Parts: sequence; C-alpha cells; structure tokens
Amino acid sequence: MRKYNSDYLEIGVTFTGPEQQPKPQCVICYESLSNECMKPAKLRRHIETKDPEYKSKSLDVFKNKLGELKTSRKTITKHCGANVNENATLAYYKMAQLLAKCGKNHTMGEELILPSETIVCKRILGDAAAKAIGTVPLSNNTVQR
Ligand SMILES: [Zn+2]
Repeated sequence: MRKYNSDYLEIGVTFTGPEQQPKPQCVICYESLSNECMKPAKLRRHIETKDPEYKSKSLDVFKNKLGELKTSRKTITKHCGANVNENATLAYYKMAQLLAKCGKNHTMGEELILPSETIVCKRILGDAAAKAIGTVPLSNNTVQR
C-alpha cells in the first residue's frame, strides 16, 4: 500500500479514503486514481494529460483548489451521509464545476444543484453503482458503498 506524501499537492494531488489505504485524488478535476498510481511520475502524468492548463501552477493555486474540494466534501457528507458513493461524489463535483463555469452563485448551488445531486445520488448513480459493484442496497437517505 503506497502512502500519500504531502509534497504531492505541488502536482495537484491530495488523497481520499482512509489514511492506511489512501487513493490519490486530483484537486482540479476531483478524479480519484488507484493506490498503485500514488507515484510522482503517474500523478504528474494525470495533470499533464487531464488538466494540462494546471501543470505549471504554483502550490498556492493547488492549496486553494484543495480548500474548495474540502468544502465540497463537507457539503456532500451533509446531504448524502458519510459513506457516500464515490461516483455520486464525483457527479456532485462535476455539477459544482459546471455551475461555477456558468457563473451561477453559491445560493443557486444550494437551492438547485444539491437537491438534484441528491436525486442523482439516490436514484441513478447509487443504483447503477451498487449493481455494478454488487454492494449493499441503498438505505433511505444514504448511498452506501
Ligand atoms: Zn485531474
């Protein structure tokens, strides 16, 4: 099991999951990679191919992005529970990014995007993901892994 190194933030990578089994997560597009990708060369490859416009940004930019990611995580936990499905989390992030691109404000996100995300989370991704990986069925208001 590879460990996360805080230096990886310099190439735009944080981690997700438990500290003993961390998975690298991109702070730009929020995609998470497998634990085997927790190597500077592979992580750098991600940013160079997926987020090329960020490949020579400063650590401060990535710190800001990490801050946004943490805020999103809290919001998701609040709305969907602690063990939220990874795909649903990613779907939320993507929606939040789209919203940001459209220039909509945060209030609109709370009023429109979060309820939609909860629907997606419960109705579509939750079922599909649960079926796909053969895990536990959904509880009332939590999408479980
Ligand atoms: Zn990325």
